[in-house]
Amino acid sequence: MRFPAFPTIVRTFYTLANATTRPISASQRIVAPFTVLRSMPTLPFLGSLFSSSASSRNMTYPVEKSENEWQAVLNKEQFRILREKGTEAPYTGTYDKHMPSTGIYTCAGCEAPLYKATHKFKSGCGWPAYFDSIPGAVTRHTDSTFGMARTEIVCSNCGGHLGHVFKGEGYPTPTDERHCVNSISLTFKGDEAKGGSNV
Ligand SMILES: [Zn+2]
Repeated sequence: MRFPAFPTIVRTFYTLANATTRPISASQRIVAPFTVLRSMPTLPFLGSLFSSSASSRNMTYPVEKSENEWQAVLNKEQFRILREKGTEAPYTGTYDKHMPSTGIYTCAGCEAPLYKATHKFKSGCGWPAYFDSIPGAVTRHTDSTFGMARTEIVCSNCGGHLGHVFKGEGYPTPTDERHCVNSISLTFKGDEAKGGSNV
């Protein structure tokens, strides 16, 4: 049997973890990794593993599109990160070492302005880091996936996944917060800072 890709396994877990009242028919083949996890005493953990994703997905935002509509306007990587809460590999993103003095980073999904160039700082973490966002542009959710208590950040306009925010790490910034954002979730607009912006 060909070993299924990780996202397939995750989707399978997600589906089965939520199908608590539906008996599994004999015709349904259970893939081996699920069987292993299902036999573990920590099965309730699986529910919490995906609970925050489910709750943030159920929220509504000004820009609402179906999965098909998002797939039509986003490339494969953008869809994986913005809509499926993926993470780009560290030190690979377009904006990791991008340090302009002016300009705005907008949401790659809906073009809402999210961060100013002046919010960006060098964190050395491998992803673009901002100590603050444009007011109201970013919405926070508690994210308990993979057993870690983290704060997910999404675009307030379309709900697109941006990354996570960390506090109290000791960076010498005005907020001591680090918005750790995927480059793929962002589009830099350099011209909008010229002559003032509308944000
Ligand atoms: Zn957006």
